[in-house]
Amino acid sequence: MQVPRLGIIGAGQLGRMMALAAYPLGIECRFVDRQAESPGGLVAAIDVAELDDAAALRRLADEVDVVTFDIENVSIDALRTLAAHKPVHPSPELTGRAQDRLAEKQLFASFSIPTARFVAIDSSADLAGCPGTLGWPIVLKARRLGYDGRGQRIVESADALAAAWIELGRVPAIAEAFVPFERELSLLSVRGADGQLAFYPLTENRHRDGILMTSVAPFEDAALQRQAEGWLGEIAAAFDYRGVLCVEFFHTPDGLVANEMAPRVHNSGHWTIEGAETSQFENHVRGVLGLPLGSTRLREPAAMLNLIGSMPERRSVLGLPGVHLHDYGKAPRPQRKLGHLTIVDPDRDRLRQRLEQLVAGVESAGG
Ligand code: AMP
Repeated sequence: MQVPRLGIIGAGQLGRMMALAAYPLGIECRFVDRQAESPGGLVAAIDVAELDDAAALRRLADEVDVVTFDIENVSIDALRTLAAHKPVHPSPELTGRAQDRLAEKQLFASFSIPTARFVAIDSSADLAGCPGTLGWPIVLKARRLGYDGRGQRIVESADALAAAWIELGRVPAIAEAFVPFERELSLLSVRGADGQLAFYPLTENRHRDGILMTSVAPFEDAALQRQAEGWLGEIAAAFDYRGVLCVEFFHTPDGLVANEMAPRVHNSGHWTIEGAETSQFENHVRGVLGLPLGSTRLREPAAMLNLIGSMPERRSVLGLPGVHLHDYGKAPRPQRKLGHLTIVDPDRDRLRQRLEQLVAGVESAGG
């Protein structure tokens, strides 16, 4: 029987966890990444090159059956060129929309999915109309290359808005109304060959400084789950999407408001490794290779804590019952995601208490 081979552009922690999920299924992986010592390098061979290097991508396409990627800001032109040689999943078209916050919001609107009110900013003249349309505060975000809260500012006055746009470098931007949300939620879907579609339970996420800190699953609300599943299902079908798709929402008293989407496995789904019958990583691999999807059912309520900037002492966390350590093997740097902890517990109240204890413990150890 032939061994399926998966090419992954980007060998960060997401690629590494994809490869770790692929190997038990007898699937081989290859990476292209800028750096030889990337997290994926301990799991599969890395062809070291720029991520849009045509020759390296062509070599990758020649060696594998399907190409996927672990970064959102992958070159869409490179993906389109690759797609002429080998199947590329998820959809380069949808990935292109997700790279541009304005196109992303317009896409949500075209599916009648609620979003924050927004104004496109291409010149300083566009700033003048913002307060009338959006009120205060206003969230100003660069249209491209923003992630983990980078490239965005929350402002409360016209002067601060003008200054913030200059600080962003006068780049094309989007100004959004501030959404007074009760909590942030995300939904992960996975779509396979022949339109097979599955969803994980809604997950509740907490951010700090724009970076995801914790995720807890499941967030149980059958009506919201159904509504969000309907939206993701429609988007995925429209783009003949394969693999995992994540949409992040604000939960407000008026319902869900879509904030952004990630056309790939997502940090808010890391809990699925221990908490679901099939992890998001395994299901992404299955989906992009056209293999049957695995069950997305919850095994046990689960919570995830990102390890940012520094790692806790290994012994201190491995001794805690129900706690799982994922160390991405990255050099410590402030604000850098170095690993995560997952905690599973059948008792949801206890799960939350234990998560809070873990957060406190990691924070005090990290100084
Ligand atoms: P983003 O880069 O769009 O995911 O934003 C990072 C975080 O900033 C979000 O998870 C929210 O916590 C916050 N945020 C972004 N946009 C808004 C908004 N329009 N209203 C309120 N909070 C926001």
